Amino acid sequence: MLSVLIMGWVHYYSVSQSIMQDVYNKQLINNLRAHQSDILVILEKALETSISLADDPALIDWFGSDNPDPKVKDIALRKMDYLHHTLGYPTIFAVSTKTKEYWHENFHLLDIVSIDDPDDKWFFETIKYPRKSTLNFDYNNVLKKSMLFINVLVGNEYDPLGVAGVGVKSSVFIEKFRENKPSENAHLWLINKDGNILLAENAEDINQSLDVLFNEEVVSAILSDSDEKIIRAVDFRKGKFELASMNVGVTDYKVVMVIPKDDLLSILDSISYNTIWSTIITLLLTLVISSILAKSITRPIVQLTRLSNKIAHAKLDIKVEERLIDRDDEIGQLAKGFDSMQKQLSLVIERLNAANADLEKEKKQLKAINIELNETIIKASESERLTKAFMANISHEIRTPMNSILGFAQLIDEEIKNESVLKNYANIIVNSGNHLLAILNNIIEVAKMDSGMVKPEFVSFSAKQVVNDTIRLFEYGIKQNVKLINQSEEQDSDDVQVYSDLMLVKRVLNNFISNAIKYTKNGEVRVAYELSATHIIFSVADTGIGINENDQLSIFKPFWQVDHNTSINDGAGLGLAISKKVVEILHGHIWLESKFNEGSVFYFSIPLNQ
Ligand code: ADP
Repeated sequence: MLSVLIMGWVHYYSVSQSIMQDVYNKQLINNLRAHQSDILVILEKALETSISLADDPALIDWFGSDNPDPKVKDIALRKMDYLHHTLGYPTIFAVSTKTKEYWHENFHLLDIVSIDDPDDKWFFETIKYPRKSTLNFDYNNVLKKSMLFINVLVGNEYDPLGVAGVGVKSSVFIEKFRENKPSENAHLWLINKDGNILLAENAEDINQSLDVLFNEEVVSAILSDSDEKIIRAVDFRKGKFELASMNVGVTDYKVVMVIPKDDLLSILDSISYNTIWSTIITLLLTLVISSILAKSITRPIVQLTRLSNKIAHAKLDIKVEERLIDRDDEIGQLAKGFDSMQKQLSLVIERLNAANADLEKEKKQLKAINIELNETIIKASESERLTKAFMANISHEIRTPMNSILGFAQLIDEEIKNESVLKNYANIIVNSGNHLLAILNNIIEVAKMDSGMVKPEFVSFSAKQVVNDTIRLFEYGIKQNVKLINQSEEQDSDDVQVYSDLMLVKRVLNNFISNAIKYTKNGEVRVAYELSATHIIFSVADTGIGINENDQLSIFKPFWQVDHNTSINDGAGLGLAISKKVVEILHGHIWLESKFNEGSVFYFSIPLNQ
């Protein structure tokens, strides 16, 4: 267990150490890189200017010619002057290999360089090596300042016509050193390939050799070819320092930084401290900003979204808040848009509702008209049916007896001698006449009832009596196979007094019984009555041909006859229609129960008292 813990701790320690190491190195390199890039920017600019001068055709022409054109020389000098004044380089120079003349700004010939003059050593060194550009630090006697000169060969590198370039004050670099120094005790140096310090903040470091400051191992590591180098825990001036070096672009120069170990650690601490604080501040700011955003943007948008949902569901009773509409920003625009949309929609819906109400009204009117129309059509078709039935039946029913009357009247005329035949004919004439009369009476009756001319005369009469009297009318001449039964008599039912129109009641009973006998070949016809609380119900039941269900629906209509395919029917389809009208006059009801081929029962009920 303990060993696991120790191993865990060792692992953690080594991981955290390696992370720290990484951060540590990065910090060193980043510092140096900032510094190196500052120097590089200055150098590159100066180099660019120097090249533009050294490669100038006028200068090449001038330095290349034994007898230079004064105009060409003037152009070259003008260019130098221009670069000095516009780009602000403290000094611009051009030295000819041929004449050894040292020209600089302000069209000024400063010197004739000499190989014997140690101050001019730089020139002879520069043209000796075939390198397009070199740097050298020197003290400028005119400006009385330490300068970095950027020397660029004029013309061919192997046979140069001269050297031209610009000078940059060393103090420019030293200022940058001060700006970039990560801590008070840190040192930043610019060194050359020989390990000499060319530039340093401390004047006493300048021109020192690294060999004096560090051991051999460290110096050779610094001067190695690698672009970047970090050397840890270097002994320097009685302390432990961290050292980093880096090439300045593609030059032979390097920047070197040495920093006390403790300083670097405290820098790292402050960085992590700052990082924590800046993270916290960023988080807080994010919270504040997001809550402001929520208040000013998200919430209004959520409100507007809800509103749009409600509008989509046609709920227009809600309003866009005034404070949203009053806003000057895009949300305000959106809110205004919603508001006017909602108003427009309300208007449209209002109009639609009004139009709908109008439509509904028209629909109702149309419905009423339709009902009237239907009734009219039904009435029209009914009256058409009545007329047709009337024409068919009545014309047939009247014509047949009329033909008989006419025909037999003719025969009487011819057969007047034979008396017995004559008697027979006379009988037929009487029968046909009577039949015709009966039909006519019925038609007249219907017409009277339709026009309301039939008024009931109410009297009190015995139910038993009315049944007996009506049955008696049929006792003579009834078919042999049909038995007419008076059920009230058979069962000796109690008599009942009815207050109604005696003649009309007899009429209906008569019609029922005559039909029952007519449509019963053999069997019985049973006449009865029974009582309910307020009504008397008369019934006539037969065992005749019966009526199918379809015909039962229309049987009480005038001129309606069932097609029996027999010749039994000598009526005109008016009997039951008259009966129905009569019962209605007496404030009663009429109905039937029947089964095809088994028989029928016809009922009518009338109030016991009116
Ligand atoms: P009709 O004078 O033609 O008999 P009704 O109005 O009295 O006229 O009767 C209408 C039709 O009803 C008849 O044509 C007949 O077909 C049918 N009908 C009436 N009573 C009976 C019944 N008791 N049995 C069978 N059919 C009947």
